Parts: sequence; C-alpha cells; structure tokens
Amino acid sequence: MTMQSECSFDYDVVIVGGGMVGSMLAAALATQGSLKVAVLEQQEPEPFAPGSEPERDIRVSALSIATQRMLEKVGAWQGIITRRACPYRQMLVWDGEAAGQTHFRASDIGVPELGHIVENRVLQLALLDVIKSAATVDFLCPASLVSYQCHAGYVQCELSDGQRAISTRLLVGADGGRSTVRDQAGIQVDRSPYPHHALVATVETELPQQDITWQRFQPTGPEAMLPLTGHHASLVWYHDAEEVKRLKALSEADFIEALHRSFPPELGAIRKILERSSFPIVKAHAQHYIAERVALIGDAAHTVHPLAGQGVNLGMLDAAALAQVLIEAVDSGRDLGSRRVLRGYERWRRGENALMISILDGFYHAFKPQPSGVRTARSAALNIADRAGPAKSLVMRYAMGTAGDLPALAQ
Ligand SMILES: Cc1cc2nc3c(=O)[nH]c(=O)nc-3n(C[C@H](O)[C@H](O)[C@H](O)COP(=O)(O)OP(=O)(O)OC[C@H]3O[C@@H](n4cnc5c(N)ncnc54)[C@H](O)[C@@H]3O)c2cc1C
Repeated sequence: MTMQSECSFDYDVVIVGGGMVGSMLAAALATQGSLKVAVLEQQEPEPFAPGSEPERDIRVSALSIATQRMLEKVGAWQGIITRRACPYRQMLVWDGEAAGQTHFRASDIGVPELGHIVENRVLQLALLDVIKSAATVDFLCPASLVSYQCHAGYVQCELSDGQRAISTRLLVGADGGRSTVRDQAGIQVDRSPYPHHALVATVETELPQQDITWQRFQPTGPEAMLPLTGHHASLVWYHDAEEVKRLKALSEADFIEALHRSFPPELGAIRKILERSSFPIVKAHAQHYIAERVALIGDAAHTVHPLAGQGVNLGMLDAAALAQVLIEAVDSGRDLGSRRVLRGYERWRRGENALMISILDGFYHAFKPQPSGVRTARSAALNIADRAGPAKSLVMRYAMGTAGDLPALAQ
C-alpha cells in the first residue's frame, strides 16, 4: 500500500462527471474558497453564446424554485437567463379517463412563478462558466475515470489518457445512471424498469409562448407539454417500447397528425417537429450513497420516473447537501473523506430521495389502467387536492422543491 503525506494530495475532491449535478457540486464547493477540486468530464457540451439562437437541446428540465435559488447563490442563474429559459406559472394535471383535475397557480401562493423549463445544455454551460472561472477548480475535459484504488487516507484515480493519475481525499460519482464510480465501488442498485418508454419531441407550435405545463394521464401512459420560449414546446409521450418505436419512425406529417389525434386540444396546432428522441424509463436506487472515500450524487445514486420532472432537482439537492457537509467538516478540522463525515450526507439525502421515489411510483401506479372504482377514487382525490388549501400548498411546495430538509444553498 502506498503512503502519501496529507499535504501532497493533488485534490481534496475529484468529481467524475461534469454534467448538471457534478458541475453544481463543484460550483458549490468553490464558494468555500480553499478546497482544491477537479471535475473529470468526458465530453464538453456544444457552445451556446448568450444572446445567440443555436439549435435547441431536446433534453430539457423543469427547474424547481429550490434549484433556481442554488443556481443564483453559486452565480450561474444569470448564465441561464441570458441564454434561454421559459418561466411557468401554472401546472395542470388531469385524468384522461375521468373528470378529476388539479390546477396549481403561482398566484395561489403569492409567488411570481413555479419554476423554469431549461435545456440541459444551457444549465450545464452556465455552471461550467462558473467552475472554469473558479481559481480552486480544475475542469479536465476530455477526461474520464478508468479505475481507482483506495489507499490509507486517499484515492488514486487512473484517467483515460493512460498518462495521468491523480490523488484525492474524496472521489465523487456524478457520472449518471451508468456510473463507473458506483460500479467500481461495488455499490449495489435496486433497479426496476417501468413498462413505459418516453418519446420526447421538440415542436413548433401555432400558439405563442405559454406559461403552463400540463400532464394528462391516459390509460396508455401520460402525455405532457412543457413550454419553451417563443412558439416552441417540449412534448413527452409515454407508451410501451413498441409503440414508441412506431411513432418515432413516422414521417413528420404523420407524426404531427398522430399528435393532433391523441393529445388534448390544449396543445393547439403543431407546425413543425424539430427533433424526436426516446428513453427507457427506469426506477433505480443505490443501496448506499457512500463507500470508502467515495460518495454518489444525482443519477449515479437514483433515477426516478420523469413524470413530475424531479430527477435533476433531486440531484441538485444532493450536490448542495454534500457540499454543505464537506465544507462544515473542513471548517471544523475533520477529514472530509472519512466515513463519519460521509455518513451525514447519506443519512440526509437517501431518506429524502426514497420518499420522492415512492411518491412518484405511487402516482405511476394510481394512473395505470384501473377498475372503475379506483378510477372514481383517483379522480375524486385530484378534485379534492384542487380544492383543499393546505394539501394543495404542500403538493405545490414539493413540486417547487421547497419542502423537506433543505440544504442552506436551497433556502
Ligand atoms: C425523458 C426524460 C425527461 C426528464 N425530464 C426531467 C425534468 O423535467 N426535470 C428533472 O429534474 N429531471 C428530468 N429528467 C431527469 C434528468 O435528465 C436527470 O436526472 C439528470 O440528467 C441527471 O443529471 P446528472 O448530472 O446526475 O447525470 P447526467 O446528466 O447523466 O450527467 C453525467 C455526466 O457524467 C459524464 N460521465 C459519465 N461517465 C463518465 C466518466 N467515466 N468519466 C468522466 N465523465 C463521465 C457524462 O458525460 C455526463 O456529462 C428527465 C429524464 C428523462 C429520461
């Protein structure tokens, strides 16, 4: 076993994955000012200069108010607003089989908006601007982790170029659903695929820019619309894999016709399909978020059903919570890679994420094809939620990410 004196580590924290969540962790750690951090990212996103109008990223996220607060505090929000973001002030959820619906409005709780729809690339680029200008963060790209070895008090990382090896006191896996860090740490995952695939399409709409996101639950799966800037929207259509494959292969005209036939009239006319793509939907939860000198955040730790747009928002809370735990450890003279410190992070976030995973799973099962008694009860529940003040406010706070045990960065 190699021994290394404490002051000779290359970094305090090495983050594998400079996606949205890994970049947020680096930006949050940079606020501390003295922790030496490296981010390994295998691929830079396409550039997008503020004020320009490049092609749209088909991957978009509904960013909660909690995520917005974190982005403001680390100095990345301006980089989003000056590129492209669409605020939404209403959310409508309704039952396509019965009469139930719940309509959330920002004005009901006296806030200007409920969140923003942002292209994933825009969010990543705004965070990368922050970390690239931070004196304490090295952004290594293209670079990926091939393997790591744990030694007494530190971790040695082998990078993909075969030349470089870097040492760190803590290795963080922010490398997405197929995390190499998680696999190499031997952390098991509870995984179950949903029968649905998501067909995502960026479309040009007849209707001007909207401020509402909506979701209609159909027996075949939900249909959702997220507004984008100008005459644009992102549609998500959940179906079994075969049907998604068929819809994806349709000509543009036939696909537009299929949308007009199946989607609710609220969508209005579609003028053009800019892009189509599809994703399998998987529920996965790592059995542990930590191993020796390793921590997992974001999709490396959990993937959830995207029906409520929570995935990246949960990851952002992981990043902020881990940053807070690490900064507090350093400020009180403790080893930030020690199990005792990392356990504080795992206890905090794993329970919160498990709760959200079960809520989303419950939603999914409630809206599967059900006998008429269940359909009636589910519609009644939506209507009651629509009228019951305190219950509605609590659901809204969950949707805005402002419920639960929030890290300081999200408050
Ligand atoms: C159809 C669909 C719709 C969704 N809609 C929403 C939504 O509205 N709101 C929401 O909150 N979430 C949504 N999500 C979920 C969201 O996209 C994910 O939760 C989010 O992308 C997770 O971010 P991440 O940074 O953890 O992982 P990723 O986005 O997967 O990023 C991982 C990064 O790590 C890099 N990487 C991987 N391996 C290595 C390696 N070995 N070395 C170096 N770098 C590496 C990758 O290049 C990548 O940049 C949706 C998901 C789907 C499928």
